[in-house]
Amino acid sequence: MLYLRNLANRRARQFEWLYQCLESVLAAMDPLFARVGYSRIERPVAFVERNVKGLLFDCKMCGQCVLSSTGMSCPMNCPKQLRNGPCGGVRPGGYCEVKPEMRCVWALAWEGAARMTSGRRIDVVLPPVDRRLEGSSSWLRASRERAEQNRARKASGERGRLTLARTFWEARRIEPSSAPEAPESDLDRRSAR
Ligand code: SF4
Repeated sequence: MLYLRNLANRRARQFEWLYQCLESVLAAMDPLFARVGYSRIERPVAFVERNVKGLLFDCKMCGQCVLSSTGMSCPMNCPKQLRNGPCGGVRPGGYCEVKPEMRCVWALAWEGAARMTSGRRIDVVLPPVDRRLEGSSSWLRASRERAEQNRARKASGERGRLTLARTFWEARRIEPSSAPEAPESDLDRRSAR
């Protein structure tokens, strides 16, 4: 277990990429999940997540995964469960004060973050753990949020285009010569000759 945990930390860059792919795939499946019902798929997905992440990261299923902000080192493995950096008792060589045979999860977090492309996320202060989410799937939560963001981005883009179209129409109605013309296509130009 400890071996795999350290390996995942050493391969933080590859796991970061894998996580981004997984999130994109799950976000793309949002319409299907929404149709089946998120509450129905919560248990099977959480089961898979618990086993996969348990093996790789010694995951404790806190329900608010922050691996991508902590160099792929799970902060819930800190005996004091510190979520924003190490305590003052780290031993020489970066070993844990409580479990001297284990490297401090925060020492590993900084090493892992240095290997990741979005490693600076470690600088952002994390919110306290919400114990109500314990045991729930972080994968589903993250992908659902991403799908929501994609929808909001798309909607605001469409709103922007509509506003622009209305503005041009209005400008042309009030002062036709001052409103910019839509660019002519090559086809239009050729047929006009
Ligand atoms: S941060 Fe939470 S969900 Fe992520 S690996 Fe650790 S215990 Fe599991």
